[in-house]
Amino acid sequence: MPIDDARQRLTDINDRIARAAQLAGAPRPATLIAISKMHDADAIRPLIAAGQRVFGENRVQEAAAKWPPLKAETPDVALHLVGQLQSNKAEEAVDLFDTIHSVDRPSLVTALAAAMARTGKRPDCFVQVNIGDEPQKGGCAIGDLPELLAQAREAGLPVVGLMCVPPLDTEAAPYFALLAKLAREQGLDGLSMGMSGDYETAAMIGATHIRIGTALFGARA
Ligand SMILES: *Cc1c(COP(=O)(O)O)cnc(C)c1O
Repeated sequence: MPIDDARQRLTDINDRIARAAQLAGAPRPATLIAISKMHDADAIRPLIAAGQRVFGENRVQEAAAKWPPLKAETPDVALHLVGQLQSNKAEEAVDLFDTIHSVDRPSLVTALAAAMARTGKRPDCFVQVNIGDEPQKGGCAIGDLPELLAQAREAGLPVVGLMCVPPLDTEAAPYFALLAKLAREQGLDGLSMGMSGDYETAAMIGATHIRIGTALFGARA
């Protein structure tokens, strides 16, 4: 993608996020995370050149192969993990990512706490909630959230908010509103919600972090 196209897409999406935040009376617009999964370094560089500094990946292996050289070129890039994380990759994830959006079970909390102790790195963490109660999706059950959060805080994880991926092909707003309510109840400010198809809705409901792949990069192969 030419740099001008990258700049245009970024400007358009950031404008839409800013307008939605203004409508909602949000104190500041959400952070746009450019989800670069399945796109190679050559697809990513135009967005970096256009000023984007926050990127997201859904797999540790893919990110570990792709990002170290890109980070060497542009050290102020922040990298977010938005996909499910296996406990045996916790240390690699803690080393590579600045923020982890997919903390969703007690065994992973334990693994992340140990990885943080070993590496001395402390990425911000979002607890992922299975907001539509879908068996095939990651995220902790709504009923398990208070206990998981208590464990994560006890273990010293820097928990900054909640994350969700609502069910496909349904109106996302009620799920976003529910996540916002859960975060309020738990005293958390961060809300990682909204993707290419529903990010303006998410922004109006108070998203602080919006995860966009397709609308920035085009369709994934
Ligand atoms: C792929 C992915 C996104 C981005 O989805 P798009 O619809 O391409 O914008 C956001 N969040 C998660 C967790 C993802 O896996």
